[in-house]
Amino acid sequence: MKEVQAFLTGRIWLKEQTPFPLPVIEEFIRKGFISPHTGIQSNQNSSSKKTKSSNCRRCGNKQLTAFQCAKCNGTCLYCRQCIQMGRISSCSELITWSGPSKVHEVNHCFTWSGTLTSLQAKASNELLISVQRNQSHLIYAVCGAGKTELLYPSIFDALQRGLRVCVATPRTDVVLELAPRFQQVFPQTIIHALYGGSPDYSDFAQLILATTHQLLRFEKAFDVVFVDEADAFPYTVDKSLQFAVQKAKKKSAAVHTITATPSDELLSQADNISLISQRFHGFPLPVPRFVGLWNYKKHMYKDQLPQKLANWTQQCLQNDQPFLIFFPTIDLMKCALPLFQQIHVDISAVHAEDPERKEKVLKLRRKKVCGLLTTTILERGITIPNVQVAVVGADEKIFTSSALIQISGRVGRSVDFPSGDLVFFHHGISLEMDKAKATIIEHNTNREVL
Ligand SMILES: [Zn+2]
Ligand SMILES: [Zn+2]
Repeated sequence: MKEVQAFLTGRIWLKEQTPFPLPVIEEFIRKGFISPHTGIQSNQNSSSKKTKSSNCRRCGNKQLTAFQCAKCNGTCLYCRQCIQMGRISSCSELITWSGPSKVHEVNHCFTWSGTLTSLQAKASNELLISVQRNQSHLIYAVCGAGKTELLYPSIFDALQRGLRVCVATPRTDVVLELAPRFQQVFPQTIIHALYGGSPDYSDFAQLILATTHQLLRFEKAFDVVFVDEADAFPYTVDKSLQFAVQKAKKKSAAVHTITATPSDELLSQADNISLISQRFHGFPLPVPRFVGLWNYKKHMYKDQLPQKLANWTQQCLQNDQPFLIFFPTIDLMKCALPLFQQIHVDISAVHAEDPERKEKVLKLRRKKVCGLLTTTILERGITIPNVQVAVVGADEKIFTSSALIQISGRVGRSVDFPSGDLVFFHHGISLEMDKAKATIIEHNTNREVL
């Protein structure tokens, strides 16, 4: 009983895919401890009684596909959107726990020995008050402000009150980065780190770190939810991920968000906001330089590296400084790579589907490669001491002001190298470039009046 309860509490799972034999599950259903649900829900549309709409119970998707189902020998609808987690069709059953509630652990240990800057401490206290009052809170903290640490007191407080806590993020990298840090800070707490391809856990965790995608597997589970990098792709464009967060939390639970580049929507949704306009080390944010790089695409596709870009790269090499060069498309990056490798053979490139992505970033950090060409995939979440950054085609549509601010935030993060070169190479200055620069300067001005 305890094992089934631990596994299913707060989860929504395909009946056939639990770690327990089917007869055990059936027995619990008979006893009323487990509730079965149809995988595809049909809703009678209230506005016009004739139209019936259906949606996937797990991900909310309404675009369902009909197929000839071998399992029930009929025509079933199935959901394509969440199919990697096991196919949900009209005849599949999802189960949730409805037996006795699990009593949560209240003895947790908090072993963090670092200190917060006065700005971090202020925001951290404000967040704690919001969490205790169950009001939504936005932490608007510039890149390099040190935002993870200021969550610790709120998380510890909630755990000790026996609440179940989730830290979600659209990005797998962030989950991987946070998991060991959290385990060190909360050594006695069972923590699950969930992302595509993570290990299967069958026990109960009171603290969960997860990609927003993995939250589809939960229902009414969490008392407190934090969404880190709440404005990152694909969370902002993928409605099912926002649905996942809403479904995974208990109905009354507030959602707290953390980002350096909040959208207007995030700013207007939060009950309370804390702004941290200064980095933890106190130095100003690097301000981008705009440099014209006319017809750079044409040159690159003709196997010529624009001179200004070549010079910039050579300068980094001479100064023995690691560098990142951001490209608007994989295609242009792949075309430019051999041109850069003529300058130095160790220059490499990464993109989202690159299986060696993590290794390459690690190599740059350890100075095993001198520089990386990259797409926007590295715009967030990485820290490389003394890194110099260039954006090629900063005026391209993909480089929104948020993306440019995040990219800029890679420079000068460590206290030993608090500044660095930051160039936006362009073919005509865009409004988004201006907006990014103005926002960075504004944060620096706010910092000076502190
Ligand atoms: Zn689905
Ligand atoms: Zn079927």
